[in-house]
Amino acid sequence: MTELQSFGLRLDDPASPHAGVASRRGGAGPSDHKAVTIDGHTIMVPVHTSSAWRSPFVAHAPDAQGRSALTKTGHGSIPIASIAFPRAPRFYAMQTFDGIPYSHIATLHGADVLATTVLQNCIRYESRKKSCKFCAIGQSLAAGRTIAHKTPQQLAEVARAAVLLDGVKHMVMTTGTPPTPDRGAQVLVESAFAIRAAVDIPIQAQCEPPGGDDGDQWFPRMKAAGIDTLGMHLEVVTPEVRERIMPGKAGVPISRYMESFEAAVGVFGRGQVSTYILAGLGDTREAILSICEKLVALGVYPFVVPFVPISGTPLEDHPAPSPEFMTSVLEPLGAMLNRAHLRSADIKAGCGKCGACSSLSVYES
Ligand code: SF4
Repeated sequence: MTELQSFGLRLDDPASPHAGVASRRGGAGPSDHKAVTIDGHTIMVPVHTSSAWRSPFVAHAPDAQGRSALTKTGHGSIPIASIAFPRAPRFYAMQTFDGIPYSHIATLHGADVLATTVLQNCIRYESRKKSCKFCAIGQSLAAGRTIAHKTPQQLAEVARAAVLLDGVKHMVMTTGTPPTPDRGAQVLVESAFAIRAAVDIPIQAQCEPPGGDDGDQWFPRMKAAGIDTLGMHLEVVTPEVRERIMPGKAGVPISRYMESFEAAVGVFGRGQVSTYILAGLGDTREAILSICEKLVALGVYPFVVPFVPISGTPLEDHPAPSPEFMTSVLEPLGAMLNRAHLRSADIKAGCGKCGACSSLSVYES
């Protein structure tokens, strides 16, 4: 799985790009990816990136049951596994009274996660000098595949349909950062409140550490609104790499993240606060593992994923990390999580629980 996520997947059959759930292009979170089920695990695999075009892994035309043979080229073509593309969810066929397709409000991630970007605009994205170089949050908006602000009512309507029609198990709400001190916490609180009033689904909220004098006071408000877990994403961890890769977001120092993590764990509990770290953007193995040790000691789950270059971003030609580099990070990190009894299976909602963007959970046992 680690190799497949590093190299990406070539689709041999012209119909395959449309097989199963439509692949995601642009937006926040995993992009230029497609959900693929292997051995009962659904993972997100790059398919639209330049490295995917050169990948040794090839998915062949699906059979009548929708299963495709996965082969690895090299010295000949070796069959590796039989894979499937999860089917498009039923809620994608629906739309709101005012004609907005449900798929423009939230999408299916992995096998059973409903994901949305509540605010599709971000103060960091408004200027090339400040934007995070890996991010494509504006692309799906510009392409008309989503709307700028999903209202609490729209999110509640879609979440209810996704649970009832497609058996979705948990929800991830991320947001672009608005120009207010709460950094998106308020809109997440309002959204969660409406969703939980409509349907019983565990929710992860994701935002930058809320700022202002009462920044940490947002955590109990989030919890009271029905948010079960919180993600505050470091993305990269070394000061020079932060400045280079995300010059705007680097204005919030790591020390502020650490204070916020500690306060958030006090509210949400050990293992219910997480961060997302993109390996392969310049942080060394040692730098990633060293901060992971501090995070784990605080009770924060560090979800380390391989960086995927997204077309149209300043990093579209940046290489993905090698499988060897990923294994050298994920193997000791998995052991560290095991020793601390912080396991993905115990997370109530969110990326760590879904696990489709990284093979980290495989190394936990
Ligand atoms: S790990 Fe997170 S970003 Fe990746 S598919 Fe799952 S919910 Fe989406």
